[in-house]
Amino acid sequence: MAVQTEESDCAREQTKAEQDVDQVRQRATRDQQRLDSGAVTSPKDLENLQREIVSLAKRQGDLEDIVLEVMERRESAQERTAELTERVGSVQGKIDDATARRDAAAETLDADEAKAEKEREVIAATIPADLLKLYDKLRQQQGGIGAAKLYQRTCQGCRQELAITDINEIRAAAPDTVVRCENCRRILVRTSESGL
Ligand SMILES: [Zn+2]
Repeated sequence: MAVQTEESDCAREQTKAEQDVDQVRQRATRDQQRLDSGAVTSPKDLENLQREIVSLAKRQGDLEDIVLEVMERRESAQERTAELTERVGSVQGKIDDATARRDAAAETLDADEAKAEKEREVIAATIPADLLKLYDKLRQQQGGIGAAKLYQRTCQGCRQELAITDINEIRAAAPDTVVRCENCRRILVRTSESGL
């Protein structure tokens, strides 16, 4: 993340600024020791030394302000890093959740499909071969539905009401005769609700 780069940049800046403060502080300490030792006697040298101590103190103050400013920036970068990390974690959690649910649903679908295929095999084994062949052909031609219920004289495959002559023919047909819809050609399944 960009904010992580910002945080490490701030850390480097902070180290550098702290080193600068140290250098200035050490130099000021040395100057002060020289002044206190009494080794410097010339008034001009004493004045220069005192002036340098004052200017070093000011420089140290400025550098300490920089350290503080960098530390503040670093802290806010750390806060944002933590916040973004948390958000990434929460989004990842949602992704994991959805993935797990999707996988579980796919497993259920696979199981349902296998079960339905087994059931179909059992039923298909009891149907005469030529009828099964016709059914499979119609199913392929008619969008997956090869047979439809005849309900109140209407084909439930194409939703068309059958003509009275067709109804009469179906009524006269033997129970084991395969009857078809004149409109969509699907096999019609007769029940007590067929309106015959
Ligand atoms: Zn039909």
